[in-house]
Amino acid sequence: MDDIRRWDVPGRVNLIGEHLDYNGGPVLPIAIDRSLTIKVRAREDGVVNLWSDLPDSAKVSFATTVQPGDLGGWAVYAAGIVWSLMEAGHRFGGADLVVESRLPSGAGLSSSAALTCGIAAALNDLHGFGLGLTDLAQLAQRSENDFAGAPVGIMDQLAVLCGEADHAVLLDTAASPPTTQGVPVTWSVDGLTLLVINTRAHHSLADGEYAARRDECEQAAAELGLEWLAQATLDATVRLTDETLKARTRHVLTETARVRGAVNAMNRRAWTQLGTILTASHASLRDDFQVSCPELDVAVEAALEAGALGARMTGGGFGGSAIALVPVDQVARVRERVEARYAAHQWREPETFVVRAADGAHVVD
Ligand code: ADP
Ligand code: MG
Repeated sequence: MDDIRRWDVPGRVNLIGEHLDYNGGPVLPIAIDRSLTIKVRAREDGVVNLWSDLPDSAKVSFATTVQPGDLGGWAVYAAGIVWSLMEAGHRFGGADLVVESRLPSGAGLSSSAALTCGIAAALNDLHGFGLGLTDLAQLAQRSENDFAGAPVGIMDQLAVLCGEADHAVLLDTAASPPTTQGVPVTWSVDGLTLLVINTRAHHSLADGEYAARRDECEQAAAELGLEWLAQATLDATVRLTDETLKARTRHVLTETARVRGAVNAMNRRAWTQLGTILTASHASLRDDFQVSCPELDVAVEAALEAGALGARMTGGGFGGSAIALVPVDQVARVRERVEARYAAHQWREPETFVVRAADGAHVVD
């Protein structure tokens, strides 16, 4: 039917630049060829109906005037973006939304941003709000922050909206608004691929610890007299007295340098160097930023043992997914090694799959 629009919206993995998007640092995510589809049709009765193939998600209906706290559960992200659009004065008469997903939810691959950004982009298109990608990203971020109560930065939203096939997206999160620049991803030419390892672990401390890291970074920046902690220089770790703030700052400082190194390595097709940088990022997140967990550490170790050039956790941490840069002919070996290590720990079998850099949210028909 021609009054239905169908959108394809990718998830993302962050190559490097973790926990930098709220610190004004550079971030280098890719949109991935795992996506969700959102079908949209306008309504005129002030009602939003939402269907999803997410397990245990019966149809939900809510008013376009929905407010934070009005509803909880799986529909909270979808309701959040409706609220955020309406709050910003982009009014519309309702919608039917049908979501079909090939993107695991809660796996650190930004299904939440795919959903909020996809709905925002679809409604913007349908009603001619005239919002650009950065505007949409900011509205989607607001919906996660102020409606769903997840204090996330803006990486996920910009990645799923601004992604480009065969490119990573280099974000400058200190710019206002943040800017994006494509960085070619060419490792496949040299026989490499990017493997995602979904640990299927989700530790309950994730949300609280994420907020705590944000607070610690803000505190460190304030003590150093900086607008953004990513502006810190080496003397910062000497000037700070608190050991925790010192360690958090060390991560932000070194991760910022690693992003620059990673872009440089990608431009030179220096894959061994890129791999080393990815693995160093993991160590920093594990030891200085303390957002890893045993499942992520084992995934990274096993991937490296089995021939990955580099591996790291991706996303906020405490579960979710890891990525590994792997020679194509070693993919099976890496997968087997990770599975064997998980079996030995009696953890759930992880899900591993290869991803390519894909286009951001786009209308299909
Ligand atoms: P991630 O973004 O890493 O996948 P989050 O916890 O941030 O994990 O987001 C997961 C939430 O996003 C789900 O609880 C749900 O509210 C929403 N969501 C994800 N996928 C879908 C879907 N297919 N249909 C409806 N809501 C979804
Ligand atoms: Mg999310």
